[in-house]
Amino acid sequence: MNLEKPAANPINEAYQRERKLSFLEKIYLPEIFKGLLYTFKQMFAPKFTLNYPEEKWDPPSIFRGRPVLVEDDGQERCVACGLCARACPPLAISMQASESEDPKERYPEKFEINMLRCIYCGFCEEVCPEEAIVMSKDYDIVFESREDAVYDKERLLVPKEDLSERLEYLKEYRNNQFGQFWDFKQDNNIHSVRDRDTDWNTGLSLVNLLEQQKRNDASRASSNWKV
Ligand code: SF4
Ligand code: SF4
Repeated sequence: MNLEKPAANPINEAYQRERKLSFLEKIYLPEIFKGLLYTFKQMFAPKFTLNYPEEKWDPPSIFRGRPVLVEDDGQERCVACGLCARACPPLAISMQASESEDPKERYPEKFEINMLRCIYCGFCEEVCPEEAIVMSKDYDIVFESREDAVYDKERLLVPKEDLSERLEYLKEYRNNQFGQFWDFKQDNNIHSVRDRDTDWNTGLSLVNLLEQQKRNDASRASSNWKV
């Protein structure tokens, strides 16, 4: 083997790297006219672009935009369970739970999402047992400072009527294997053991109360399964 003069050595002057061009290819004119013809044809093709921001795109309900809190009958559905904050990969959600007099008993006194951290993954929506946080169609988000990017409860709350498309989408496609356990029901938003248990007996000891609660939960779950 001749190591001093390899057959396909690009450094070797004898190696032809460029193909031979014809006369027409050398003057480039046919290729320029081909390009102009293609551009001319595109002027009459259907348009897929929008004059943003004058014209806004209306995304389909599968779209995952800014996460928002669902406002139901003037108050948030959220019961401040903390699951969404736990599931959020970049730790964008923070909240402070508080107790209230109404039957729901718990609500988020503070609820914040740092939109500089949010990666629009939708995990918060997936884990929420109350359908209280959903991905909206809002993609048009602008901040003027880091503080401005932290959305508080007032900015996050959106009436459920404005989120109906996404809520319908979730009803149809979300984790169907869990059946009705994962469908939002107004009754489930009442988080009071007293309201849920018809045979609540405050005379029982704590241990007996917990045992009774376990029995109630077990019987309720088995009666809810769809066969
Ligand atoms: S969409 Fe993802 S990153 Fe954004 S708040 Fe929800 S869980 Fe966190
Ligand atoms: S998972 Fe749902 S109910 Fe629980 S804190 Fe988050 S938004 Fe509220």
